[in-house]
Amino acid sequence: MLGRRIKLFKLFGFDVQVDLSWVIIAVLVAWSLAVGFFPFRYKYLSVQTYWVMGVVGAIGFFLSVIFHEIFHSLVARKLHIPMKGITLFIFGGVSEMGEEPPNAKSEFLMAVAGPLSSIAIALACYGIHFLGVLGFGWPVSIDGVVLYLAYINSLLAAFNLLPAFPLDGGRMLRAVLWAFKKNLRWATRIASGIGSGFAMLLMLLGVFQFFFTGNLIGGVWSFLIGIFLQGAARMSYQQVLIRKALEGEQVRRFMKAEPVAVPPSASVRQLVEDYIYKYHFKMFPVTEGSDRLIGCVTTKQLDGVPREEWNSKTVRDLATQCSPENTIGPEADAIKALSLMARTGSGRLIVIEGNRMVGVITLKDMLKFLSLKLELG
Ligand SMILES: [Zn+2]
Repeated sequence: MLGRRIKLFKLFGFDVQVDLSWVIIAVLVAWSLAVGFFPFRYKYLSVQTYWVMGVVGAIGFFLSVIFHEIFHSLVARKLHIPMKGITLFIFGGVSEMGEEPPNAKSEFLMAVAGPLSSIAIALACYGIHFLGVLGFGWPVSIDGVVLYLAYINSLLAAFNLLPAFPLDGGRMLRAVLWAFKKNLRWATRIASGIGSGFAMLLMLLGVFQFFFTGNLIGGVWSFLIGIFLQGAARMSYQQVLIRKALEGEQVRRFMKAEPVAVPPSASVRQLVEDYIYKYHFKMFPVTEGSDRLIGCVTTKQLDGVPREEWNSKTVRDLATQCSPENTIGPEADAIKALSLMARTGSGRLIVIEGNRMVGVITLKDMLKFLSLKLELG
């Protein structure tokens, strides 16, 4: 279930996606607000009111996180860093960069934009709170949600400003180290080391809260965020290592020439028995002559073909044009191939030159190269 993404909407041209883990988080936030936070701060309201406040508060939290991430993305766009979109994860979101920021200054500016936007929302909410309470005499239920949003956005800004890579504060720290020593790998190692340290502290804090102060909900939160941060710190450092190792390497270097291809005249039954059962690939190139690529055929396309037609239908009937999602050029950067694989979840890409198939590149071969290169230095 984790790792699956749902596209929600487009904002300023950025895709806003939500990781399915976020659905669990949204329910947890609404629940902790409705049974913990609001009843504790505002006594004598009805159970329904607490739940309405909880759900509205969770939606407000969710919009605050999107606002924070959109600000990162807008600054990135100004600095010409390609952004792929925004995905909401556990504590906050991740603005997905197409590549690393080009220099320390860009990274710093991009990182600081998020916390600044959260501080701005927090101040606006405090302003609304004073207006509402003093000027309009708003009911305590509305005021409670507004104050909660002021509080949660302050917390979001403070948490993201921790110098723990890959949080915004950690990115700012990495940018400073990077500018200082002109070495991105070194800067990332130090920043993500500090990030792991903070993650351990958060997990310890969670255990302490849970067992010694009786703050069960707070304890679980701290522990979960610690685990998330720990994983993110390790992953971000590995990504930099991988980028460094693959930088400047072309797809041509990793591809296998003469890959398995299906002739268009083969029947669907032959496709299943001689190719799919034999090689276990999910997608095959369809070529005519020795290497003229006329399309791609995937196991998914088989669903629409009744078994009675397996003998009469041919691969030519089934094949569709190969999409840019499963093809790449031989001169393309290996990092591009890797991120395409990560995005589509497929471990194989067809290497094409014009309408000729020249080879196939697999995740396995790239990882073999990577582990050798990382081992050697
Ligand atoms: Zn941020």
